[in-house]
Amino acid sequence: MESIGTFGASPYTIRDLHLFRDTHEASVAAALAPCVINRVAKGEQLRERGPARLYIVLSGSLAVVPDTKAGSADTFGTTVRPGESVGEQSVLDEAVNRETMTALEDCELLVIEPDLVWRLIDQSNGLARNLLRLLSFRIRAANAQLRRRQKLGEFYRQLSLNDSLTGLYNRAWLDDALPRLIARCREHGNPLSIVMVDLDHFKKLNDTHGHVAGDSALCAAASVLRDALRPTDFAVRYGGEEMMAILPDAGAELALKIAERLRQRMREAVVFEGMRLPLPHITGSFGVATLAPGLDDRALIAAADCALYRAKESGRDRICTTD
Ligand code: GH3
Ligand code: MG
Ligand code: MG
Repeated sequence: MESIGTFGASPYTIRDLHLFRDTHEASVAAALAPCVINRVAKGEQLRERGPARLYIVLSGSLAVVPDTKAGSADTFGTTVRPGESVGEQSVLDEAVNRETMTALEDCELLVIEPDLVWRLIDQSNGLARNLLRLLSFRIRAANAQLRRRQKLGEFYRQLSLNDSLTGLYNRAWLDDALPRLIARCREHGNPLSIVMVDLDHFKKLNDTHGHVAGDSALCAAASVLRDALRPTDFAVRYGGEEMMAILPDAGAELALKIAERLRQRMREAVVFEGMRLPLPHITGSFGVATLAPGLDDRALIAAADCALYRAKESGRDRICTTD
């Protein structure tokens, strides 16, 4: 970067500078006349060390990227074009300008020292108004970017908590949510039950109809769970062809009723639409466990698993409870 003269000796006019639109041109021109113009060669980086200064691009363009080390994850910057400025916010709050400025092409920059910026603000309502507009625009743009990032974060969070095939909650969600659901029910003195489901002879279904058909069957089973549960319940893919329903506020009796509804609907589910008769159907074996004193999430799952094992042992397509 080299100094190539002052604004007073340059061909540029106040009208070229967006910040000074609708200001008293003659007095602003006189104030800016001694300001230095720097030339920055294409590709050269400009990082301020001392107090922030206001730069106005007279020719060329600058890429401005916020400092990622300062905690901002934003690596996408903006391009500042002729007439536009950079660094005004840092001048106003007297912070160090942490943005990295890189010349996208050979640039001429008007450099305005902070003292002069303040003096001009005191003198010119037009400049103060332009600065307010600019800062308001920047805040709006920053908020919009923040909202976009929040949405994206939420999207990825959802993605990491849902099973990609069935859309049910996955194990990661279960490991996080079940202890909290148990704690909440305990706190309010409410019951909580879980129903473990393992699809019957699923390996055979895969072997007979193929894995794509197997996947459709898993989705059908997931839909049964999703549709048959109350809005306050949760359906989880525990792993493979094992699923789980979490039933907050449901005691043993109600949980058994809900499990019976699930079992019936599982048998009736249309798994392969348009397939020739005999249509394959799915059945599941169910294990129901209800929260009891001293049981934590792992013990509750183990209890439901144990009941499920007995349902398998005693012939499948049936429900067993822990007692
Ligand atoms: P059981 O009645 O004793 O439960 O018999 P099973 O055949 O269902 O049990 P097993 O554990 O032997 O087999 C489970 C099968 O589930 C084997 C595996 O290929 C299949 N499976 C697990 N996850 C998926 C999946 O995402 N898609 C498909 N198509 N099959 C899956
Ligand atoms: Mg299994
Ligand atoms: Mg199975």
